[in-house]
Amino acid sequence: MEKILVSACLLGDNCKYNGKNNYTKEIEEIKQYYEIIPICPETMGGLSIPRLKSERKGNRAINEKGQDVTKYFVKGADQVLNIVKFLHIKKALLKENSPSCGVKHIYDGTFSNKLVDFQGFTSELLIKAGVECFTEENIKDLIPNKK
Ligand code: SF4
Repeated sequence: MEKILVSACLLGDNCKYNGKNNYTKEIEEIKQYYEIIPICPETMGGLSIPRLKSERKGNRAINEKGQDVTKYFVKGADQVLNIVKFLHIKKALLKENSPSCGVKHIYDGTFSNKLVDFQGFTSELLIKAGVECFTEENIKDLIPNKK
């Protein structure tokens, strides 16, 4: 069975900044076709649960108190890339809008709920490495015969 990286919060893990999750029920169908490899780059990079909300601004990650937390985001992204290389993973299902996992859009770094066309730190690295990245918004494209 093909392996796929999945943002752990989409699977129901309470790893979001606020200690909650982003469970998406369509994930259950994905499990029939793929071996799920859960990842949470922010906690893998050393951030706690709960943690302050952060947004990406250019090449920096800033939390809502204005502290620079870029090193945690970069470390988490590197850890995920190591898993991809080690397990030869070609696909990922990631949480849209996240400063780590967002694939098409993320919040703009002003903490005012504005989205911009940009990727999170981890998604950017995965796309550059040739991993095909999906989100909860196009999850059906991962299911055979439902394209
Ligand atoms: S870093 Fe990714 S997996 Fe972790 S809580 Fe944020 S969106 Fe979910």
